[in-house]
Amino acid sequence: MDHDHVRDVDPAVADALEGELERQRSTLQMIASENHVSRAVVDAQGSVLTNKYAEGYPGSRYYGGCEYADEVEQLAIDRAAELFGAEHVNVQPHSGTQANQAVYFAMLEPGDRILSLDLTHGGHLSHGHPANFVGQLYEVEQYEVDAETGYIDYDGLEEQAAEFDPDIVVSGYSAYPRDIDWERIQDVADDVDALHLADIAHITGLVAAGVHSSPVGIADFVTGSTHKTIRAGRGGIVMCDEEYADDVDAAVFPGGQGGPLMHNVAGKAVGFEEALQPEFEEYAEQTVANAKALGETLADEGFSLVSGGTDNHLVLVDLRESHPDTSGGDAEVALEEAGIVLNGNTVPGETRSAFDPSGIRAGTPALTTRGFDEDDCRKVGELIARVIDAPDDEAVKAEVREEVEALCAANPLYEDD
Ligand SMILES: *Cc1c(COP(=O)(O)O)cnc(C)c1O
Repeated sequence: MDHDHVRDVDPAVADALEGELERQRSTLQMIASENHVSRAVVDAQGSVLTNKYAEGYPGSRYYGGCEYADEVEQLAIDRAAELFGAEHVNVQPHSGTQANQAVYFAMLEPGDRILSLDLTHGGHLSHGHPANFVGQLYEVEQYEVDAETGYIDYDGLEEQAAEFDPDIVVSGYSAYPRDIDWERIQDVADDVDALHLADIAHITGLVAAGVHSSPVGIADFVTGSTHKTIRAGRGGIVMCDEEYADDVDAAVFPGGQGGPLMHNVAGKAVGFEEALQPEFEEYAEQTVANAKALGETLADEGFSLVSGGTDNHLVLVDLRESHPDTSGGDAEVALEEAGIVLNGNTVPGETRSAFDPSGIRAGTPALTTRGFDEDDCRKVGELIARVIDAPDDEAVKAEVREEVEALCAANPLYEDD
């Protein structure tokens, strides 16, 4: 994977690109929202479609010369519809956040009410956090996970909805390791005549592969990112029933965006084609098996897992009991020095701050892409434990870094090009 054309013009950026490639190759990417796309997706995203204006939708554009743009976008739409069983698909959102904003803009008036999971309990900024404009434009109340079990408190959600009377209930999360009872949340929304937005950003690939329950056909709107467990490159997607199709399309463009990023739409088309292959199901199954192996190892090493384990691609570790003197931020820094890249994360009942929280979140989507199996992930769990047990011990970090490099060498990334 060379960057010769960039180097000819701009050695500084070429150096940074090569540094990033080497960083991805030689360290463990365990940020649960990250993955490694295929060379095919990289090429599609780095294509001449970045030159093309295609405001509008296939067959109905505001610009000429859109025949290939139309072809690519229609392929992305048709493949997503097949993957998820969705009636209507919009593949133009630039990100998962913009996909959510399109749904709010399509269906809500300023001042309308959103009921969503608290950020520190695993929710997302785009679900109405005050730092996002959504939190300022609409009236937001947040629900929580059960403090004891770490599972969504469905009964509490039902009571809260009855009191708050939301216009939309948001489900789907950023740091939630368990399967989600979409039907139960749909019932909660139905009881108060609210809409239901299921945001599957993290689990899009697991849902597509059928290894996680799907909200499609249950929730009114399903949104997602296309670069997380589904390896289709950076971007977003909205799915809905035909009855909302025109409103959603108008809210994406011209409501919230201008010209679509057609090179990214091409990446989505290629990534969805890959996800339609039988091997993708194996990938998704292995991702979950790896997360379970990682979680079991960490539990054996004395760590406390929120909810006690995982049903999906991530584990959330609460460090407060096992390592009261080590914050999630401390752990993140020490692990990165040892070649293991993940993030400090808030945990339910957070007692520190979002900047230096009490937990860490670790995911297996990227490791699984580069070929890691359960044994490798058990090994990774042991390495994580060694570092967090002695976060200031330079010798330990150096030893772990060597073991990380050996694991990476045994599971090479982007090696043939
Ligand atoms: C990642 C994520 C998003 C979208 O993130 P983008 O970076 O905007 O693509 C939306 N919702 C949830 C729950 C997420 O985890």
